[in-house]
Amino acid sequence: MTEISDYTIIWNETLNQIRSEIDEQEFQTWFNLEFQKADEKEFTIAVPSLFYHDQVKSRYQSYIEGKIENLIGKRVNLNLVIVSKNEVLQADQETQPENQNVPAKEPAKPARTKEKHTQLRNEYSFDTYVVGENNSFAANAAQAIARNPGTAYNPFLIYGGVGLGKTHLMQAIGSYVHANSDSKVIYITAETFTNEFISSIQDTDRAKAAFKNKYRHADILLIDDIHFLQKKDGTQEELFYTFNALYDANKQMVFTCDRPVSDLKDFSERLRSRVGRGLNVDLQPPNYETRCAILKKKAHASGISIPDDVIDLVSKNISTNIRDLESALNTLTAYAKLVGKPVTLEIAQQRLKDVFASPRQSNISIEIIQRVTADKFHLSSNELKGKKRTQSIVYPRQIAMYICREITEYTTTEIGQEFGGRDHTTVMHSCQKIEDLIRTDPAVDSTIQSLIRDIKDYSAKS
Ligand code: ADP
Ligand code: MG
Repeated sequence: MTEISDYTIIWNETLNQIRSEIDEQEFQTWFNLEFQKADEKEFTIAVPSLFYHDQVKSRYQSYIEGKIENLIGKRVNLNLVIVSKNEVLQADQETQPENQNVPAKEPAKPARTKEKHTQLRNEYSFDTYVVGENNSFAANAAQAIARNPGTAYNPFLIYGGVGLGKTHLMQAIGSYVHANSDSKVIYITAETFTNEFISSIQDTDRAKAAFKNKYRHADILLIDDIHFLQKKDGTQEELFYTFNALYDANKQMVFTCDRPVSDLKDFSERLRSRVGRGLNVDLQPPNYETRCAILKKKAHASGISIPDDVIDLVSKNISTNIRDLESALNTLTAYAKLVGKPVTLEIAQQRLKDVFASPRQSNISIEIIQRVTADKFHLSSNELKGKKRTQSIVYPRQIAMYICREITEYTTTEIGQEFGGRDHTTVMHSCQKIEDLIRTDPAVDSTIQSLIRDIKDYSAKS
């Protein structure tokens, strides 16, 4: 018989081993797991919330079970229970089955009707947000925060490219909190925040104080597109003080950004470290199935019926982001309304042919990009995909990744996989590097443009 205390030791050793294997930040975020009890078949471990439960279960359950198996020589089940307010809930009683490509399940409907929030758009709710593999983590986190603002994930940072749903998700949090509490929710873009700040400093002392008070007394502050604050030192400083005041008072902050905060340029270190201190999640472009689900939902909402073959056509040809999908759909619904006829496959093909032909939507493989780029720099494709980090290889590799992102439909995750299984953040970082170079060195731009032409020629011939 193994004593309870032995199980505790086994559990602690499991955690130690995991800690030595994974990133410290990841460990801190997800391994807040407390031993409850164990027997020969099962380890019962407490997690602090349903959100944790779902994430740990999907990401780490079998990994943790494997670690325990290594230590005790046999497989045991990991039973995760939610312990909140001294209550132990069987997690499974609470868990919703994972449901991809359906609207995010909105946390219980608001009990009362309330006046609309003037800065938040009605249509940006959890109800209208389609969840797919590209955004499920972000959407789950957003809902957890909306239910319990200011507790677990503060600040919350959502980052990713244009049109991927950052503003929508951020506003969904705001609307939910606004509808369900008396909390003062403030949504503002970083640009407006900057403009307000600039006019306040040119104004009377009262106006200055009014500006500070407004933001420092928010219960939940949502600031959209903080990359806009790059090079704006005064506004950054003001935000830094606002941040500290709200953070100390446990008030929830949510930020969006077009890149990870570590890639922000001309951004003060102290603000960067604060903004990135809480939970950082990224949004990726949706895959084909999610694109179909989004189009169907939006077509339905617009009241125009769009046949499945048209949905398929648009989803196959537009893979950049959701804004592009929406605008293609708007083109079709506007046409249907104008001529009073349903949209057929032929009409859709004809109406959208220019959109489909744009370089971002073309059908070029990563392999061809690698081959042509490697050739240009007198390397082999394998070297380009390999692990070597000498400058003569790193630079062409970054260029190839950049071109993949610019002219293909692949997500940064998929691109990373094709480059020797690299992480998508490496791809994003490489793209950022090349963008910076293009800005400062016209020769880099012309190298890339000529490479893209070669790639297209090659692709057209093959
Ligand atoms: P971002 O702020 O990242 O540039 P937005 O939040 O403005 O992107 O999203 C662009 C458009 O796409 C909006 O109209 C938004 O409602 C829609 N959208 C984005 N993601 C989703 C989603 N998962 N489900 C439904 N609509 C979405
Ligand atoms: Mg936005």
